[in-house]
Amino acid sequence: MIEFKDLSLVYPNGTQGLKDINVTINEGEFVVIVGLSGAGKSTFIRSINRLVSPTDGELNIDGDNILKYNPKQLRKLRTEVGMIFQQHNLVKRSTVMKNVIAGRLGYTSTFKSMFNLYPKKDLSLAYESLKRVNIGDKVHARADQLSGGQQQRVSIARVLTQQPKVILADEPVASLDPPTSHQVMTYLKQINKEDNITTIVNLHFIDMAMEYADRIIGMREGQVVFDGPASQVSEST
Ligand code: ADP
Ligand code: ADP
Repeated sequence: MIEFKDLSLVYPNGTQGLKDINVTINEGEFVVIVGLSGAGKSTFIRSINRLVSPTDGELNIDGDNILKYNPKQLRKLRTEVGMIFQQHNLVKRSTVMKNVIAGRLGYTSTFKSMFNLYPKKDLSLAYESLKRVNIGDKVHARADQLSGGQQQRVSIARVLTQQPKVILADEPVASLDPPTSHQVMTYLKQINKEDNITTIVNLHFIDMAMEYADRIIGMREGQVVFDGPASQVSEST
């Protein structure tokens, strides 16, 4: 369970990124955050793995206030809370397999990857993850040889290989065409349901949010202005 309690974030330049957020997200929920550019969606999501640091309030994950975490606890948090970005953040010249296995703890170090010193268990986990997003045939391809949609599927496989409790996706389909966007959203939703991984996604488009979300959180100027099931959105807007 992720609990925002009077959570606020003021950036060093004085911009209020989040203001008095009170939201509880339950295990296994598929939540979509919507709002205009600058509404605070990205700041909301990045607070949950502490890529940004809220300045006031509490952010509890399973009862632990992550604002109090030390660097070691933060490293652990980031293995449990996986992240997918708009620009997939893959190592372009590296193979798909190398990118995905980097999702495993400790393989960000170049030494092991240079010599392909991966435990069999991790390799099979990575391969299984790639198969789940239907891209198992590309293990040896270089990341930059794939299309945008394929790269985003690889980043889903990478996050899956991390075996996270929570997946955060910051505008994961913003640079993809509509059919590819739907494909990526379908995989995210499928994984959420099959593995019961709490999933929080930022989207620009309300129609796509309504199609996939269990619950929609609407943001404006750093505040939550709507929070409810997708079916209630049209009534209130
Ligand atoms: P969204 O994801 O909805 O576009 P953001 O969370 O990125 O919104 O931004 C919320 C507000 O915080 C905006 O006014 C934005 O300009 C500001 N902001 C975001 N990141 C920073 C930063 N690193 N420093 C200062 N202001 C920031
Ligand atoms: P996003 O679409 O994820 O919100 P942006 O394009 O708004 O990203 O911002 C890109 C980067 O610039 C982010 O790291 C964000 O934190 C930072 N940023 C955004 N707005 C500001 C701002 N007003 N001042 C300083 N940094 C900002």
